[in-house]
Amino acid sequence: MPHGKPAGIPCVQLRDDYACAIFGQPERPAVCRALRPSPSMCGRSRAEALAGLTALEQATAPH
Ligand code: SF4
Repeated sequence: MPHGKPAGIPCVQLRDDYACAIFGQPERPAVCRALRPSPSMCGRSRAEALAGLTALEQATAPH
């Protein structure tokens, strides 16, 4: 995504099975390689993870 990933829009590299299509490849962004998931980020389910991401996006959105 040459201009960055807008909030609320899935990454173009995200496959239908929620795996990264470029995992392990050099073109995978450095921020993705550096990210270390944690229970507080991922929650116990996809729904909890999305709720947390939504809260972060709203808290950091420009006004
Ligand atoms: S790891 Fe990075 S490149 Fe891969 S799907 Fe997630 S956001 Fe996209």
